[in-house]
Amino acid sequence: MKITIHYNEPEDAELHTSLKFSIPKKWLAQPTDKIRNFFVGEYNKKHPESALDKDQMHLVDENGRKLPCDQNSEEIIQDRSKLHLESGPPPSLADMQAAKDAEAAAAKKKAEDEKSLLVCKHFGCNARYRPEDNHDQACTYHDKAPIFHETAKWWSCCPQKKAYDWDTFQGIPGCQIGSHTDVDPKKKFLGGSDLREKQAATKLKSIDDFNSGKDDKTVRRQANMSVNERKLDDVKQTMKVMGVDEAKFQAAYDALCAKHNVKDMTKDLWKVSKELSDVLNDTFDKIAAEE
Ligand SMILES: [Zn+2]
Ligand SMILES: [Zn+2]
Repeated sequence: MKITIHYNEPEDAELHTSLKFSIPKKWLAQPTDKIRNFFVGEYNKKHPESALDKDQMHLVDENGRKLPCDQNSEEIIQDRSKLHLESGPPPSLADMQAAKDAEAAAAKKKAEDEKSLLVCKHFGCNARYRPEDNHDQACTYHDKAPIFHETAKWWSCCPQKKAYDWDTFQGIPGCQIGSHTDVDPKKKFLGGSDLREKQAATKLKSIDDFNSGKDDKTVRRQANMSVNERKLDDVKQTMKVMGVDEAKFQAAYDALCAKHNVKDMTKDLWKVSKELSDVLNDTFDKIAAEE
């Protein structure tokens, strides 16, 4: 049996070594470390100044699999194989079996864990969660059932955001923040009569906006914002009215977003909102204490 072994690991190309040789017949029924030791021996003769410790090296086959040091060569090495020598002690057959067992056990545990997860029934969430991980800011969802009307799809709580394909519909950020729930909603989607009810509700909603004192520009600007974005936008406007420097507020906002690694405005922004309210609470406590 003829094989080639390459050793190309060192940065110094002078040390790269390839050796093509026939494996003596009696080695075939012996563990692969015989072949490794032979190659390392030849290499060390050529490069005594950078000699290798054979026990700290292992062989790898063409598919990147490590050869177990205690498996017989004939069981694992094919004629004309191209093997590589790499750093690191070789695995034993027992090591490889243990790794395989651990992997199978991990996969089994993962499958069991998945099975025990609850599925959130909130509109637009569908997250799988562990009850012990649930908290009152865990879920971003829609308050009310979806409406599929002709080609349009929208959440009845967010009628200003209509989608015409499924992905866009799924991507409409939730308007509520709360904890996940595994309780089914009463209505899963709305029909024609609900739609008429909803149209009446939409009118009420615009009265809400009117009563909130927000001008049209603010309502329009906030239309596509998540709940927390809207909340923080309100704070910013109020601060501006009070004479707080808008740029300063924005810089603090940006810094908090960076600190909390906010990537998704619909999910992560509550941390910023929470820290800002903590800071303001502290400040008010301090002012009150000074009196
Ligand atoms: Zn909504
Ligand atoms: Zn949820």
